[in-house]
Amino acid sequence: MTSTSTSATTAKPATPEQVLRAPKVALHEHLDGGVRPATVADIAEQIGHELPAAPDQLGLWFADAASSGSLPRYLETFEHTVAVMQRAEDLARVAKESVLDLAADGVVYAELRWAPEQHLAGGLSLPETVEAVQAGIDEGRAEARAEGTPIVVGQLLTAMRHAQHGLEIAELVVQYRDRGVCGFDIAGAEDGFPPILHLEAFEYLRRENAHFTIHAGEAFGLPSIWQAIQRCGADRLGHGVRIIDDIDLAAADGPRLGRLASYIRDKRIPLEMCPSSNLQTSAVPNMRSVADHPIGLLKDLGFRVTVNCDNRLMSGTTMSREMQLLVDAFGYGTDDLRWFTVNAMKSAFLPFDERLALINDVIKPRYAAL
Ligand SMILES: [Zn+2]
Repeated sequence: MTSTSTSATTAKPATPEQVLRAPKVALHEHLDGGVRPATVADIAEQIGHELPAAPDQLGLWFADAASSGSLPRYLETFEHTVAVMQRAEDLARVAKESVLDLAADGVVYAELRWAPEQHLAGGLSLPETVEAVQAGIDEGRAEARAEGTPIVVGQLLTAMRHAQHGLEIAELVVQYRDRGVCGFDIAGAEDGFPPILHLEAFEYLRRENAHFTIHAGEAFGLPSIWQAIQRCGADRLGHGVRIIDDIDLAAADGPRLGRLASYIRDKRIPLEMCPSSNLQTSAVPNMRSVADHPIGLLKDLGFRVTVNCDNRLMSGTTMSREMQLLVDAFGYGTDDLRWFTVNAMKSAFLPFDERLALINDVIKPRYAAL
């Protein structure tokens, strides 16, 4: 569907070496979805948490369970990662390792999202969980800098959409916004839990001039996207792939946008797209490979598309791998990858001058040198 209509702006596809060296920006990364398998095994042994596979089989188990097509098995994967992130030292370790892994993959800016309310079983308070993660981020950034791979990282605090902690977590975002927290998100089962359920949190954040993104248009269609943008006022859309439902692909004069799709394109609302993850959860019907992902068409139409991993562990992926999959599917060259990366940096929850500095001093020169 989309592969034939999509054209790369440069003739030569990027090489794997260029993809690896290219600077990248990751806006949609779940902290509990990117734990190293060896760390899961190590902490599980320390705290006596039973795992479903032997340590050397664990990475495979996560990827298999996540692509099984079974929602209970998919959700079970997070039970294990969340279980090993209940002590302050474990939250810090997981955050530090995520920062190091992203930096080693060429990521120069990342926002790590996670749900503090899910990390209270070890007796930590909400502020203590945020401080533990920040300690790990600070340590990881210092180490990455020493290794010659500097990275800027912010925390996004997530509220679970099926729970009632939205306002409390939003207040935590404002409380810590000058200490490492850059925004808010809601995540979890989309169907049956529309964004509007957390309206109070979004209204509070808007009163406080704070930023937020909303998972919408992943497992549920246009009404969820419409609510996220028009009722809740989201700055960005987590996934948003189902905006494709508002584009008439059969129109004789080329794809015709509906009102909502037009609004999102006109307002430059960023779409945090995660090709492998969207494929695993069948976010779009009849999507068999990345070549079928709407990202190619949405890029051609000029939407503000960004590329992300979602859950590196569950999808067995990295930012380089996601970029490579797009190169393989659509023939993208380094100009296309730079376009995605600049889009993401423009959309970051970071002050404008700092975004601009990363684009002009880091991203553009490093792409030029590829
Ligand atoms: Zn997500």
